[in-house]
Amino acid sequence: MASPALKLRIRQRPEVHVGQLVTQGQMLSRPEDRRLACHISPIHGRIEGLIERPDKGYDLLIEPMSETAPTQLEVKAPPAKKIEAWIKQLRHLGPWGMGDGYVGLIVQLEAALLMSPKELICVAADSFAPYPIQSSLATSFGQEMAEGTRLLANLLGLAQPTILTGPGRASFREIRRHAASRSIRVRQAEGKYPVANWSLVSRYQTQTRRLIQRGANPLEAGVVLINGWTAIRLARWFASDKVDMVRPLGLAWPEADAKMQVHWVMPGQRVFDLHPRLAAEQRSPYTKLIFGDPLRGRLEATLDDQGRLLDPVAPDNEFLLSLVEHPLPEPQLPCIACGWCSEVCPTSLQPVQLYRQCQSHPDDVRLYESLAWCIDCGLCSHVCPSAIPLAQTFRESVSHLLELSLQS
Ligand code: SF4
Ligand code: SF4
Repeated sequence: MASPALKLRIRQRPEVHVGQLVTQGQMLSRPEDRRLACHISPIHGRIEGLIERPDKGYDLLIEPMSETAPTQLEVKAPPAKKIEAWIKQLRHLGPWGMGDGYVGLIVQLEAALLMSPKELICVAADSFAPYPIQSSLATSFGQEMAEGTRLLANLLGLAQPTILTGPGRASFREIRRHAASRSIRVRQAEGKYPVANWSLVSRYQTQTRRLIQRGANPLEAGVVLINGWTAIRLARWFASDKVDMVRPLGLAWPEADAKMQVHWVMPGQRVFDLHPRLAAEQRSPYTKLIFGDPLRGRLEATLDDQGRLLDPVAPDNEFLLSLVEHPLPEPQLPCIACGWCSEVCPTSLQPVQLYRQCQSHPDDVRLYESLAWCIDCGLCSHVCPSAIPLAQTFRESVSHLLELSLQS
């Protein structure tokens, strides 16, 4: 039986056409923006389809030429201490590290050419209920995670990088076993807040204690931020001159007692084929799919701009695919002053007061000073028993105030 076609989503215009034969490792696109990675074909095959997705990139359908697909690509690792060579090589390997520190590893390395980072933090935590309190990646591949972190620290000239684990003891112990001999500091984050959120890592775990806004380069706060999977892939690449194409993807379900399932996937593979429950959710309007944990990851919309169903594909570097229930909108009730929104806000805002200010003085630009601290995590809205749209209002107010400032 022939293997199913491989569907890849790529951001840049492909340089191949329907019917063309491609070989594993062949470049499928060249970026117009030189900071972005190119995309290579993970298998030998024939281009069966090419669809442009407005604002999202292009879907490529590759029909495999054999029933088995190689799991690794042979690529020589760059010289250990040449940042330019790393950037050049990484750009040829698909969307490498796009999820690191909001902006991706390549963009952070480019910035490191201009300003020296003071710190490197590998975030090995996925701790947000109902998700596991310990990083499975850190527990399973602790040695490679430590080795990859050391390699990157050497490149950046940093003597003592950090690996940040979640509150679970097992992953902390496992990483510590491999870290000491490599001069890596291991820090265990407390479980109260969503510790894997890049903004909060920068705020609570760096020397500068600066909050980085969504989309900003962490080097503005003097830090390079990567996730655990990036470190593991770097270690394997430098040890073997081979890059992993197939990798684990954990499926996390909304129920608190649900066990996470791990599947082996190729970047660009359709995720709905991985589990019958995912397939069943495909057409549900009440389900959201998120890559990464809910507070760091990006939402994989199930509908496109025209309301058509999209097939999400496995990204290059996120370990978790979370399935989150999209609650039906509830009628809003008056605030009962329970204080829960202030209790959960990870940046210590007073959400209900801010909400009232947004309502009563929507054009007051001074509001922005407080709103700039909102990382849009949505926790306040999530816990509010009166279903007051706190986070949604803050999001709209930020856009409104930015528009006002552009007009003035
Ligand atoms: S969304 Fe709410 S809880 Fe999250 S940072 Fe903003 S105000 Fe705080
Ligand atoms: S959580 Fe909701 S009801 Fe409670 S204080 Fe905040 S806004 Fe008011």
